[in-house]
Amino acid sequence: MQKGKIDVKTENIFPIIKKFLYSDHEIFLRELISNATDATQKLKTLAAVGDFKGETGDQTIHVSHDKKKKTLTISDSGIGMTAEEIKKYINQIAFSSAEDFLEKYKDKADAIIGHFGLGFYSSFMVADKVEIYTRSYQENSQAVKWSCDGSPRYTLEDIEKESTGTDVVLHISEESKEFLEENRILELLKKYCKFLPVPIAFGKEKEWKEGKEVETGKLRIINNTRPAWTRKPADLKEEDYEQFYQELYPMNENPLFHIHLNVDYPFNLTGILYFPKLKSNVEIQKNKIQLYSNQVFVTDSVEGVVPEFLTLLHGVLDSPDIPLNVSRSYLQSDANVKKISSHITKKVSDRLMDIFKKDRTGFEKKWDDLKIFIIYGMISDEKFYDRANKFALLKNTDNKYFTFEEYEKLIKENQTDKHKNLVYLYSTDTEKQYSFIEAAKSRGYDVLVMDGQLDTHFINHLETKFKDSRFVRVDSDVADKLILKEEKADSKLPTEQQNELSVVFQSVLPDKPAFTVSFESMDERDNPVTITQSEFMRRMKDMSNMGGGGMGFYGDLPDSYNLVVNPNHPLIIKLAEEKDAAAGKSLAKINEKIQPIKSTRDELEKENRKKKEEELTQEEKDRLSDLDKKLNDLESKKEAVLKKVAEENKLVKQLIDLALLSNNMLKGEDLSRFVKRSIDLM
Ligand code: ADP
Repeated sequence: MQKGKIDVKTENIFPIIKKFLYSDHEIFLRELISNATDATQKLKTLAAVGDFKGETGDQTIHVSHDKKKKTLTISDSGIGMTAEEIKKYINQIAFSSAEDFLEKYKDKADAIIGHFGLGFYSSFMVADKVEIYTRSYQENSQAVKWSCDGSPRYTLEDIEKESTGTDVVLHISEESKEFLEENRILELLKKYCKFLPVPIAFGKEKEWKEGKEVETGKLRIINNTRPAWTRKPADLKEEDYEQFYQELYPMNENPLFHIHLNVDYPFNLTGILYFPKLKSNVEIQKNKIQLYSNQVFVTDSVEGVVPEFLTLLHGVLDSPDIPLNVSRSYLQSDANVKKISSHITKKVSDRLMDIFKKDRTGFEKKWDDLKIFIIYGMISDEKFYDRANKFALLKNTDNKYFTFEEYEKLIKENQTDKHKNLVYLYSTDTEKQYSFIEAAKSRGYDVLVMDGQLDTHFINHLETKFKDSRFVRVDSDVADKLILKEEKADSKLPTEQQNELSVVFQSVLPDKPAFTVSFESMDERDNPVTITQSEFMRRMKDMSNMGGGGMGFYGDLPDSYNLVVNPNHPLIIKLAEEKDAAAGKSLAKINEKIQPIKSTRDELEKENRKKKEEELTQEEKDRLSDLDKKLNDLESKKEAVLKKVAEENKLVKQLIDLALLSNNMLKGEDLSRFVKRSIDLM
């Protein structure tokens, strides 16, 4: 027997390995199985080039555990090691023979996982003692046993071993005894080894017999050695992609479609990305993409590797060119990773463009589900925007879809305002804003549906992209004012009538939210009364509610609305008549009194204006304020009269309630009062 000391610079490297090498102890199993897989693949490669003349036979890697002996064993039928190789590859830590091997078999060796550095030594994170029983594939080679208890001292001795290959036996330490539990081992194998290229067996297949779970005679194989992404797209059918998706995410609904990636220059990358069907817009799940390196699972957090907006996708990426076990910030600055990321963006947009061109109808059908990904991408990634603006769609309230270009053409003629701005009308809720949509449509306008989670941001983004254009929510003003064109229609009610009706409306409007009454001369077929909210204020409030930076001020403002009255509508004219019938005489009396006072006051003010402030006598000042007081009193009287008119007139409340109702603002007691009043009026 030989004894020796492992050749490392510091005596105590093991505690360092244990503590710092990997925060996740469980990855030791991945490392050992990767080594076993490497060794197996190497033998295959040697056989293929004729350097190994024997039979490769069954190459299954076996994982077994013995709870009594507290051992976990990984056995492969790979190339094995000679005593010399053990000394070279195992004893000299950090010296990886993968490099030598790659050098020698450059063209064939791409399936080797020589990526994990101190792989083998990670076993000391969970074991007190590790033994290697191994026999090299080389003819007449002597099998050897290597053993090490975690100190830098090891033993190496000759043993009897029939078969070629390596058994690594871990004597699991007390604090790591979880790794002797069948379920825990199974879980790890499923996590890291599900798609390894060599079959991995762990225990026996189980089945239910007479209410009990019993072992069958069949080996339990953990992995699918030829996952879909490693195969040629031409050999795969749609069902194969869906089946693979189910293998990855057993509980998910089938995806919208897939993108099969296959690049070998300037880096290696294969994989399949799926556009998942999200159950609702809200349920955005990130980090579903799994990252592999030569079919070994590495991680499922892919930020940095995949552009942010594509982390919403599902699927797998496999690349030996992504540096593993490095910090995330390093990963993000790695040149290869950057290239991979922009390549994926390009591939994704190419594929979308492809589907759009080949099957527009199918693309439109999927659009509502797809939209969230594409919009997210367009907002967050300039390059993606430049590609996607050729296939991104806008949907209108008739469920028709348009590209940006098509839509611009559609509305150009009718929706350009007098300042030559193109106005895009949109609705965030086609039910609630129904009457506004109808009004806009009756003007020949088109209205977009923008009810998605990201649409507020998207609208802001599009406004920065589209030239001389703006977006206006369909209920932000009465239809005639949404897109300002030439001069508006005349009013059938004189200003004095409008002023009095203003008071009538104002006096029965609720205090909260605040309303401002105004008159807009519209077509007599337009609604008599409409409630609007300014586009600017609403957007500011929306943004502030979504946590837009520095917008808190707007969020705190109370809601304020406009009550817009159409003086040309027959009902408003009728209301003016009813008001005159009920209070015309008393109003006229008050007005009669107001008239002379007002003219005297105006006269006086005109006189006063000729003088400088200090030239005014106290008498003159007093006279003016006296007149003002009289006017105020009369105005208050008038207001009281109008208020009484409003209270006794059912039409006013009815008109207001109808407007509230079409904005979904009539609730509770007010609503039931409205219903009652409606019945009375019938
Ligand atoms: P790496 O896998 O990065 O090379 P390891 O420390 O895991 O680093 O392994 C060192 C070397 O030991 C490997 O490169 C390989 O030559 C050899 N080795 C490890 N495990 C096996 C095995 N199961 N069969 C054959 N050789 C092995």
